[in-house]
Amino acid sequence: MITRIHHLNCGTLCPYCQRFFTGQGGLTERARLVCHCVLLETPEGHVLVDTGLGTADVERPAYRLGSGFFKMMNPRLSLADTAIEQIKSLGLNPRDVLHIVPTHLDSDHTGGLSDFPQARVHVHKRELGAALDTKFPDTLRFRKQHFEHRPKWSVHEHATESWFGFQAIRPLPVLDLLMIPLLGHTRGHVGVAIRNGKKWLLHCGDAYYHHAQMTENESVPTGIKVFETLVQTQPEKRKQSLARLKQLSLEHGHEIDIFCAHDPLELDRMLSCSVSG
Ligand SMILES: [Zn+2]
Repeated sequence: MITRIHHLNCGTLCPYCQRFFTGQGGLTERARLVCHCVLLETPEGHVLVDTGLGTADVERPAYRLGSGFFKMMNPRLSLADTAIEQIKSLGLNPRDVLHIVPTHLDSDHTGGLSDFPQARVHVHKRELGAALDTKFPDTLRFRKQHFEHRPKWSVHEHATESWFGFQAIRPLPVLDLLMIPLLGHTRGHVGVAIRNGKKWLLHCGDAYYHHAQMTENESVPTGIKVFETLVQTQPEKRKQSLARLKQLSLEHGHEIDIFCAHDPLELDRMLSCSVSG
């Protein structure tokens, strides 16, 4: 049973060319993107959805994140932003984080894994296969440095149930938390659905990047459309996932709070309506 839900920003990315990512501002101004993570308190221990950047990334950014990512995304390096420090600030014990469910294993989602070596990490089988068997160009996105502590992987593949017409995997039998395969950005990318009272949350990871993509309003910055094609692994599957998410949002948006990993406006929206269960 989930007793409390916290929305956290565990990494701020400040790439050049704000207009590219937001449709506003100048070409030389920096954008502000977040790494939206969710912490679930339960009587049996805590669950973290995505981990953002971790303490080792702050201490050794070039080694941990790679110079390409570091130069392109220009992360703000702050220990206070890491999940482990925010969990301490909430008065909770980081050692009580027993499960982590990353939406996928790109470096901006896995940096905090090593701060919770005791946690079991639940991933889609195809995602772990791609991340551990890295060949170029995957070496650019999956950082073996983030897995040097040998995470306790729990690999999932087969759907156990249906959720609003999506196939769903329940990694923890006692918890209303579902992994929803939203493939394409990476081979085993998933959304994470969490029951929140009478509604659901759906963390969509990098299946989309801008809130307008979930609406009939087509004012999505051109740069976002370019960016998501540059970082996709399976174009057709990614487009299918995006189309199904938009349909879900239009038909069930009153029942599900849908958000992605990097949109600061969506994080602000969720922070403003966070509730205890
Ligand atoms: Zn990302």
